[in-house]
Amino acid sequence: MPSGTVETTDQKSSDETTEQPESALETARRQLDHAAAHLDVDEGVIERLKHPTKVHRVAVPLKRDDGSVEVFTGYRAQHDDVRGPYKGGLRFHPHVSEQECVGLSMWMTWKCAVMDLPFGGGKGGIVVDPKDLSDDETERLTRRFAEELRKFVGPKKDIPAPDMGTDAQTMAWFMDAYSMQEGETIPGVVTGKPPVVGGSEGRQEAPGRSVAIIAREAADYYDYDLEDTTIAVQGFGSVGANAARLLDDWGANVVAVSDVNGAIYDPDGLDTHAVPSHEEEPEAVMTHDAPEELSNEKILELDVDVLIPAAIGNVITADNADDVQADVVVEGANGPTTFAADSILEANGVEVIPDILANAGGVTVSYFEWLQDINRRQWSLERVNDELEKHMLSAWGDVRSEVEARDVSWRDAAYVVALSRIAEAKTTRGLWP
Ligand code: GLU
Repeated sequence: MPSGTVETTDQKSSDETTEQPESALETARRQLDHAAAHLDVDEGVIERLKHPTKVHRVAVPLKRDDGSVEVFTGYRAQHDDVRGPYKGGLRFHPHVSEQECVGLSMWMTWKCAVMDLPFGGGKGGIVVDPKDLSDDETERLTRRFAEELRKFVGPKKDIPAPDMGTDAQTMAWFMDAYSMQEGETIPGVVTGKPPVVGGSEGRQEAPGRSVAIIAREAADYYDYDLEDTTIAVQGFGSVGANAARLLDDWGANVVAVSDVNGAIYDPDGLDTHAVPSHEEEPEAVMTHDAPEELSNEKILELDVDVLIPAAIGNVITADNADDVQADVVVEGANGPTTFAADSILEANGVEVIPDILANAGGVTVSYFEWLQDINRRQWSLERVNDELEKHMLSAWGDVRSEVEARDVSWRDAAYVVALSRIAEAKTTRGLWP
């Protein structure tokens, strides 16, 4: 049930910090300008990329269980489709806004291009707290949202997926509502579905798996032996828990994990499989016995080798960036580091491996799912994980080459890889009329 969050855990918002909270759109536009400075790209292309192609705003009426009617607002931002259909999640969250959807859709454009997937970027959602909805209400709201978006989505147009507050069941309802109206079963309209209705094995664990793969590669690149690498993970939802457990399995020393209630810390390493993930038992990290407890914010300041913020956006800000003691930050959430914090971390010599590379396993396995759906085939978990590993290593290699060739940050390098591919496609297709 989408009562909690799926791609990320529900963590305390950073709105209480003194830095003005930066919108995802502001961060995304600033990052674009910053990276464009390293590339010889037509200014017209950059200008076009600052604006989403379309933003759909829909009213979503819901009959509540008590018979009353409430109208919610839904969005679908479609940023760019020069390389293929729009692709990206649907969020059910009280903070969803048009600006946030646009910013997040821009990140999806870069993410798909870094991974060299034949997709553009989209993102949408409904302004609603899923915790206030019963299961039946969530189903009715999802089906009506699917109907309102029906003309704008489709396997060749725009393919939604789970994001904060939505999950595999939400996608199954969306697919069913869409298919019934279209008169045929069309599994490829969304990804992240349960495998029994055309979902892919390994899709749910994929963002966490990619974060783990990238953290492992980063540790290796900076000459850490994984066995001696200490890791702290903020957020123990599907991204954080899967990343922490895989890294633990591969021999790393996961010393701290957290959820909205706080963090547990054991300098000798936690048994991450014994700590309940958000899916297993929501917000129960603190029920696990550990030598030390910290706040969910303090976990960001631990003196570890690798810090993985895998909760929500804007957690590393100008206010706490100077307190980050990790050598490497691997971004599990979308947009955990503000633009201002990024420069502070860079000045302090902290390497930041960006979200658009690190958590891109989610959309990469979404691509595998879409391929399986349109070909009416099912891949084994082994094949999915094998292909994911190959795609992640290839993208890591592309970004690493730019880091080395241009002496830029990992974020700028990832943008350079993405922008070069997008700009080349835009120039080749041209501007019409
Ligand atoms: N919502 C996920 C993301 O932010 C996945 C998107 C997708 O699979 O389309 O990357």
